[in-house]
Amino acid sequence: MTKILASKELIQLQKSKFKEECANLSQKGITPTMKVILVGENPASVIYTRNKKKFIESIGGACEIIKLPADISEKTFLREVDQIANNPEVHGCFIQLPLPKGLSHLDLSKLIPPEKDVDGFHPDNLDLLLRGDTGDHSLLPCTPKGIIKLCNHFGIEIQGKKVLVIGRSMIVGKPMALLVLNHNGTPTISHSRSEDIESIAKEADIIISAVGRAKFLDKSWIGDKKPWIIDVGMNQDENKNLCGDVDTESIKDLVKGYTPVPGGVGPMTICSLVENLITATKRQTKELQ
Ligand code: NAP
Repeated sequence: MTKILASKELIQLQKSKFKEECANLSQKGITPTMKVILVGENPASVIYTRNKKKFIESIGGACEIIKLPADISEKTFLREVDQIANNPEVHGCFIQLPLPKGLSHLDLSKLIPPEKDVDGFHPDNLDLLLRGDTGDHSLLPCTPKGIIKLCNHFGIEIQGKKVLVIGRSMIVGKPMALLVLNHNGTPTISHSRSEDIESIAKEADIIISAVGRAKFLDKSWIGDKKPWIIDVGMNQDENKNLCGDVDTESIKDLVKGYTPVPGGVGPMTICSLVENLITATKRQTKELQ
């Protein structure tokens, strides 16, 4: 029977673990503290940041969303980020993307110090990924890290398996392929210029789609191998409801299992962000070497 890889149960398990870790830190007078920098009022970003804050507070951490105006100058934005990120009382910090047009040209990767970089985008953290880190105790990009955790939870083996990653962005596709490699899988990374991805898909044990197009992946991609499907996409369907990249109706009887949208990869991304915050807090307070 096709398995629906919903993340709800795993999130509850992780939450319990985080609560315990926060309680232990609290006994030493430490509260994992996050600052979120939100520029402008992009409706999706407002919801994402609110959800992240809610999650952090529910496990006993502290989180403040710092709202900056959409028309903020580059100079003021950089000064604000510097002050927030270098505040010694802050353990983790991230800038909610996307930024408004006036700031979108900026290279953000080094604005947050590596030890507070809960998004895992700082070059020092990405270097760990290149060197073979598996992400258990380091600040690696949240979506790929969450996907590996979800695979482990459902007993989806990566070692030795052919894994097709569709998409090559810095936040999902590229770190995902590296993390698969670090877990001894055999990744293939594909993108809009790749030829005949369908043939590669038909040979894959796991297909991870991070394209951003509704109903992108349908039964024409699925061969006899019955792959696992991980759907990273967050799109809107014709009724403006949240949906992934995968046409689930079309593939559901042809695969071993698939992640639903909503309720699959999205919550795992937030969960990894919180795990990164706890790791960052422990490191900075010498609770973890
Ligand atoms: P992105 O930067 O736009 O990257 C999309 C990738 O898809 C690009 O590498 C692009 O190739 C590739 N692509 C586009 N059309 C293709 C085609 N026809 N065949 C093969 N590849 C194609 O997006 P992203 O930031 O990685 O995000 C991807 C999706 O995941 C979005 O829907 C986003 O909202 C979602 N997302 C979800 C989460 C979560 O927590 N669930 C987290 C992050 C992102 P080129 O490089 O050649 O252009």
